[in-house]
Amino acid sequence: MDSSTLSRRDFLRLLTIGGCAFAVRPGKLLAGKSSDQANPNAAKFRYKYRTMSVKHLPELQDDIDQLKKTGKLSDNPTFQSYVANRKFVVPADFSDAKFIILVAIFTPLMLVNFHYRGKKHEIMVSPQYSGGDYTMDEIKETVQREIILKPGFRMEIARNTFYKRLSVRSGLTTYGRNNITYDDEFGSFLALYGFYTDFEFQEDNWREVAMMESCKTCRICRSRCPNQCITDENFVINAGRCVTLYNEISGEFPDWMNPDAHNALMGCMKCQRECPHNAAVMKLAGRLEDVTEEETERILSGKVDEALLKTLARKLSNFGPTQAQESVPVLTRNLSVLLR
Ligand code: SF4
Ligand code: SF4
Repeated sequence: MDSSTLSRRDFLRLLTIGGCAFAVRPGKLLAGKSSDQANPNAAKFRYKYRTMSVKHLPELQDDIDQLKKTGKLSDNPTFQSYVANRKFVVPADFSDAKFIILVAIFTPLMLVNFHYRGKKHEIMVSPQYSGGDYTMDEIKETVQREIILKPGFRMEIARNTFYKRLSVRSGLTTYGRNNITYDDEFGSFLALYGFYTDFEFQEDNWREVAMMESCKTCRICRSRCPNQCITDENFVINAGRCVTLYNEISGEFPDWMNPDAHNALMGCMKCQRECPHNAAVMKLAGRLEDVTEEETERILSGKVDEALLKTLARKLSNFGPTQAQESVPVLTRNLSVLLR
């Protein structure tokens, strides 16, 4: 996929739009160091940001149009339905927006033990798929307070756009060969957010699209990808074969996909887990509450009532498919493959 065009969180948002009822909750904001650009006195959680003038939006649109024209975007219908209406444009009702604020929040890998048939199975929940106790409004409020710094300016969430490309072009993150974006400190374990504002920043960050220097000689992600999505030539991957595309949505997995390709409760960690740029953040993996033998059996049988759903939402920290009964088949299918 030109996942420059679509982050994992975008997939989840789109599922919601498409009627699949995952409630999107971002990863927990971690106490600790904040942005090098953020107000050091008010740091509450780990994030970084960049600001970019909206005057660059036409160039960003050219980036995407060029990828489309040269056939670099997968023609997979599901993927196409995700990207079809995404554009780099200022919202129609916010024509005096001046800047975009791009925010990257550290979101750790989480581990959870499922007890099943007398054994403990440790399963990964990819970064961004389980949530914390904060809302988009709280992120927005933090941006207002710590980045804009002054009251009275309008701020709107950037919707239907391509966060990865914005983030790379602003210099906030850099592409890896696996088309996932990286920060020096957070590795690829980050969630991207964007906000339009009518505040005029001094700093207009803009740079050429860049892939990490070490990717030039490294092929680890390419060799680990179970579906040969990653190429030698560039950082645009074949989204139509990416595990993530299939295990986030309902329905059967395609026949051509080896069941062993699945490696996380949702998403795919194969191209990130051994990336040298994730060595440090892999050690920061969090631990969710164990899922008991009985709970596991009930998930596998699809018999998840409201009480169990509530328990799972708590244990799995609001993992997407625990948000609504309609999403339980996704959880059942994904767990079944991992416990085969
Ligand atoms: S595994 Fe290697 S090639 Fe892939 S993103 Fe990481 S550094 Fe780049
Ligand atoms: S390793 Fe997984 S997430 Fe990465 S490109 Fe391949 S299938 Fe997609």
